[in-house]
Amino acid sequence: MKSVTVVKIGSLRDPNPETRGRVQVCDIPEQPLGPEDVRIKVAYCAICGSDPHLVEGIFGWEPPFGLGHEVSGVIVEVGPKATKKGLKVGDRVAGNFLHFCGTCYYCRNGQEQFCLHADESNNPGMSETIVWHESQVYKLPDNISLKEGCLLEPVSIATRIMDKAQAKFGDRIAICGGGPIGLLALQAINMYGGTDITLIEPIEDRRELAKKFGAVHVIDPISQDVTEEAMKLTDGLGYDIVIDCSGAVSAVTALPGITARGGKLIYAAMYPNTYEMPLNLYKYCYFNELTITGLYVAPYAFPRALQILPRFQLKDFTNKIFDIDDAEEAFATQVSGKYPKILIRCSEIPGE
Ligand SMILES: [Zn+2]
Ligand SMILES: [Zn+2]
Repeated sequence: MKSVTVVKIGSLRDPNPETRGRVQVCDIPEQPLGPEDVRIKVAYCAICGSDPHLVEGIFGWEPPFGLGHEVSGVIVEVGPKATKKGLKVGDRVAGNFLHFCGTCYYCRNGQEQFCLHADESNNPGMSETIVWHESQVYKLPDNISLKEGCLLEPVSIATRIMDKAQAKFGDRIAICGGGPIGLLALQAINMYGGTDITLIEPIEDRRELAKKFGAVHVIDPISQDVTEEAMKLTDGLGYDIVIDCSGAVSAVTALPGITARGGKLIYAAMYPNTYEMPLNLYKYCYFNELTITGLYVAPYAFPRALQILPRFQLKDFTNKIFDIDDAEEAFATQVSGKYPKILIRCSEIPGE
């Protein structure tokens, strides 16, 4: 079957074709179906902001390896013991790309994001089919299309951000970075009753989308001084909660300075694996008592993400679609930043 594969490590933005990273559609065997597994014909797999980092080699994986974890599709085969959720052939589904074993120390200790066996099941989603354990699979509601359904995974990350933020009704909240996670988190915060919701983002189209999704203020970090603007907007106090969804080294150092005393600062993106951020501990941890945290994946978030999925405005994320055969072009377009989200059509499913 066709599968989008990293065949060369390197930056997709590298102007030199000799050293540039490369993805290619390769022919790989279908995964074997275990007794508790289901096989899904993949309709759509969205490109995640993290995927180009995988091409850059952030996890140290040796190519060739497959990509894709934001998946929707239709069940085509059900293992004989995959009976706990009532899944059947023809069900429209999405889900969690990781299978948490449920047995290791972390799974038993309420921290399945650190599951010692999660990676063993990480099959490439940008493929014509994928095999998942039934525990990873969630049936989509009828009013959610398969194009929207592949956004369940990023919505699970927004859900996890809310778990970490533990916002109070009326908190002032700023988000740095208007990519898909930032824009979904912004929608979530709007539902939560956040106030003075502010998006910090250099791309104008994304600032406009943010206003549509509930941002009250936007800051352009290129033409404006982020700290000065943020303090002006919050009466010199800063935001109760600041969430970084940019992963941009150029943006992250200003964020402790715009977080209110006693506030929370969540670094919710993926960062270059050798970057070390300077932080004035006296000012921000001792004197201002900030709580600084981050997040990796989304444990225990999928059932709630599925329930709240229909309340998100997802249409703006489903406009740009490439066929799997054009994956190389899709990734080149992804790094151009022109679209808030890009989907890969992995198989043809009539009516979707
Ligand atoms: Zn993702
Ligand atoms: Zn485990």
